[in-house]
Amino acid sequence: MAKGKVVFDENQCKGCGLCVTACPFKLIEMDEKRINSKGYHPAHVTDLEKCTGCANCAIICPDVVITVYRIDK
Ligand code: SF4
Ligand code: SF4
Repeated sequence: MAKGKVVFDENQCKGCGLCVTACPFKLIEMDEKRINSKGYHPAHVTDLEKCTGCANCAIICPDVVITVYRIDK
């Protein structure tokens, strides 16, 4: 089973929420506790242990905020 590492270029996030809908395991949420340099709540992964590295989130992000590293085990 593959595992993913997801890195957000947080200050580039415009809070559109597309990545939230794209994750098949619903692992992405907007972080309501933080605000980035653009004034948005940035997206983040809630449980990285469950991430398979499918990269759906990275593909859908219009601002190329997300990079997914896939580790095959
Ligand atoms: S790589 Fe896939 S499983 Fe991991 S957070 Fe992104 S959409 Fe979800
Ligand atoms: S799709 Fe990209 S810009 Fe939109 S919320 Fe997700 S990380 Fe931010």
